[in-house]
Amino acid sequence: MLDAEIAGLAPAFKAVADKIWSTPELCFAEHRSVALQIDAMAAQGFRIAPRLAGLDTAFSAEWGEDGPVIALLGEFDALPGLSQIAGSAQQQPLEPGGNGHGCGHNLLGGGSMLAAAALVRVLKQTGIRARIRYYGCPAEEGGWGKGYMVRAGAFDDAAVAIGWHPGVFNGVRARSTLAVVNRAYRFRGTAAHAAMAPHLGRSALDAVELMNIGANFLREHVPPDVRLHYAITDAGGVAPAVVQARAEVLYMIRAPELDEVHDLVARVDDIARGAALMTGTEVEFLPQGGASNVLPNAVLCHVMHGVMQRLGRLDFTYGERIFAEEIRSSLPAQGSVDRRARAEQDVLLPSGEGRLPLHEGLRPFDGRMTQGSGSTDVGDVSWVVPVVECSTATWAVGTPSHSWQAVAQGCSPAAHRGMVRAAATMAGTALELIANPSLIQQAREEHQERRDGRMYVSLVPADTLGPFRSGGDL
Ligand SMILES: [Zn+2]
Repeated sequence: MLDAEIAGLAPAFKAVADKIWSTPELCFAEHRSVALQIDAMAAQGFRIAPRLAGLDTAFSAEWGEDGPVIALLGEFDALPGLSQIAGSAQQQPLEPGGNGHGCGHNLLGGGSMLAAAALVRVLKQTGIRARIRYYGCPAEEGGWGKGYMVRAGAFDDAAVAIGWHPGVFNGVRARSTLAVVNRAYRFRGTAAHAAMAPHLGRSALDAVELMNIGANFLREHVPPDVRLHYAITDAGGVAPAVVQARAEVLYMIRAPELDEVHDLVARVDDIARGAALMTGTEVEFLPQGGASNVLPNAVLCHVMHGVMQRLGRLDFTYGERIFAEEIRSSLPAQGSVDRRARAEQDVLLPSGEGRLPLHEGLRPFDGRMTQGSGSTDVGDVSWVVPVVECSTATWAVGTPSHSWQAVAQGCSPAAHRGMVRAAATMAGTALELIANPSLIQQAREEHQERRDGRMYVSLVPADTLGPFRSGGDL
C-alpha cells in the first residue's frame, strides 16, 4: 500500500524538488522555495503553521488529530557560487557567480514531503492514528535554522524525528557529528601612513595574522578529532600603504562534545587576546551561532536499516550509470574513496558489482556508531527528540557535497530515484514505529541514556537571527 502511494505521489514531489533546484536561495532567504513547499503540502491537506520560531522561512505542515507526532525533517537552502547546468559533466555555470544546490537540499525537502504525504494516505486508508508533521527547516548551511526552532520548542511534542540526506551511498547514517561554534574576532587598531608614519599605526591585520599563527600552533595540542578552521572576512582594505585599522576573522571550532568545544573556544579567545596585546589593538568577540553534535539512536537505526533491507537493491538504469561515469571522470582520482565505497557494497549486490558508478547496494549496519567530522543543525534536534536519518544514492560514488558535480546531478533521473527511495525508507520507518509504540519507547529510553542528564544548550544568537554568515560553511 505504501509503495503504491509513494509511486503515485512521486511525480508531484520530483517536480517540486526540480523547481527548488531552479530557484537556489541562500540561508534565511528561501522565500520562493518555502512558498513552493507550502503550496505542495497544503494541496495534500496539511495544516500549515508559517514562520516557526519567528523565522520567515521556517514552517511546519501537519496532518492528524491524535497519536504520536512523527516529525519529518526537510531542508531547502542552497550555496553561493555553485551555479551549474543540470545534466552536464563539465563545469558550466548556469548563471556566473550564482547560487547552486550543492548539498542536494532541493531533494532533501522533496523526499521528506513525499514521505509525509504518502504516510497520510496510508493512515487515512488504515485508520491508524498518528500526527504527521513535516518541518520546513531553513538555513542548514551556516545559519543553523533548526537551532532557533528547537530553542522555540518546535520539537517538544515530537515522539521521534526522521530525516535523510542525499549522498553517495544507501544506508542509515549511524554516526555522530561534531559540535561546532562559529565565532568572529574583530580587531581594531589605528590607521596611519605605512611608509611615512608607520610608528603611529597599530595594525588590526597584523593581529589577525598573529592570531591565526597562534591557532595553527594550537592544533598540535588538541584532541585528534578537533577541527579548527578560519576565513579572513575583513582584511582591512586593499591599500598596503594604509595601516589596517580594522580586520576580522571568522573561526569554526569543532569537537565531538559541546563541553570540549567550549574549552577550545576559551583557548582560541586567549590567543585572540594575545594577538591584540602583541599588536596594541583591541579585540571584540562576536558569537555567530553553532550546532550541537548529533546524538545517534541505535534503536531507530535498526528499524530503518530493516526497512532498507526489505526495500532491496536500488537499481539504476544504464543511462543513469553512464552519466554517473561521466561525472566520476570529472572528479580527482580518489582511490581510497573508491576502495571504501566498494567495501560498502554489501549483501544486496553480487560480488563484482562493487565497481558500479552509483551505489546500488546497502551499507552494512551492525549497531555500532561512528564519529563523523562534519556538523549539522540536525544535532540540535537530536538533543530534544530521538532522530534517525538515512542516506540514499543520489550522486555518483565519490561526488563531494558542496561541489558543482553535486549541483549537476541534483535533478537527474538518478537523483529522483534516490529521493523516492529515501521517502519510501522514511515512511516505512514511520509506519513501523507507529505500529509498535514499544519501539518508540525504547528509542526514547536510549535517548535519555545518551543525554546522560545533560541539558540541551542553544548555541544560536539570542536575537531572532543575530549576525550570521551566509553559505557554504559546513
Ligand atoms: Zn546538506
